[in-house]
Amino acid sequence: MAEKIAFIGLGNMGAPMANNLIEAGYALTVFDLVQEALEDAVAAGAQRADSAAAAAADVDVVISMLPAGRHVEDLYLGSGGLLEAVDQTTLLIDSSTIDAETSRRVASAAGKRGVAMLDAPVSGGVNGAKAGGLTFMVGGVAEHVERARPLFDVMGKVAFHAGAAGAGQVAKMCNNMLLGILMTGTSEAINLAVANGLDPAVVSDIMKNASGGNWALNVYNPYPGVMDNAPASHGYKPGFGVDLMLKDLGLAMDSSLKNGVATPLGSMARSLYAVHSRAGHGGDDFSSIINLLKGCPSD
Ligand code: NAD
Repeated sequence: MAEKIAFIGLGNMGAPMANNLIEAGYALTVFDLVQEALEDAVAAGAQRADSAAAAAADVDVVISMLPAGRHVEDLYLGSGGLLEAVDQTTLLIDSSTIDAETSRRVASAAGKRGVAMLDAPVSGGVNGAKAGGLTFMVGGVAEHVERARPLFDVMGKVAFHAGAAGAGQVAKMCNNMLLGILMTGTSEAINLAVANGLDPAVVSDIMKNASGGNWALNVYNPYPGVMDNAPASHGYKPGFGVDLMLKDLGLAMDSSLKNGVATPLGSMARSLYAVHSRAGHGGDDFSSIINLLKGCPSD
């Protein structure tokens, strides 16, 4: 509990994760490029810093929660990057969802400086982050994972050690490819039922309790009005954005090419999300893919 933490990246996910650490009694220094995000964190009890390097000076743990690989690489390895600023005893935890190669490169650079680093991407969405119910998928050395476990326990419900550096990102990439596929499939099924005159809530309840049951039906129904706290019932905002899902499916497709593994459904899901994004929905929640599939005219 004595650990002092720097939290970098206070967006949809980072802000509630940081809030849970503050509520659990940890001392947090925070940095984000967005002033409003910093002000909200200060109101919740954090101390603000003027730069990431300033936030990370004199802390025990740094947690980053940034959009993509280039942000993470720049944060740690860029000029004035964190690797230059932190003490050797500081544990670095990157919870952003990024490609495993970048994750390994940053962890290796940290290792060369004698600094421990974990990749610890999460699943569970914004509601999971708010409720402290995230699932952490962690890559790195077991001893460092155990050191971080009390923090994972505050922000999440479970933390898996997936393997060496980068393994957490691989697990997350595979999980999110499956999520993109099943959200698209769930949307197709509900749309078809509604087109046949069924109530979306009724058919969702039936499928949830039948062999089509899945996470989207359980906690993240894509049809408006079926689930009060799902983004679909709030104009598809806020939540896990279409462009973030597109990024994750792109990571999976890059990996499938590099490894020569067939991922036809992942490829189809990526194409659908790309079309949806280009139609102006990149900032909407990823469950809005249901709208792309609605109303195809028939002969
Ligand atoms: P977001 O865009 O809401 O937040 C990212 C934050 O990082 C923003 O506040 C931005 O200002 C800040 N930022 C960017 N560059 C920075 C820098 N150099 N220094 C300091 N702050 C910087 O994104 P999010 O939804 O919170 O997602 C964060 C990560 O978590 C992504 O990698 C995403 O794929 C992953 N993720 C998101 C969800 C979700 O449901 N939103 C779920 C699981 C995982």
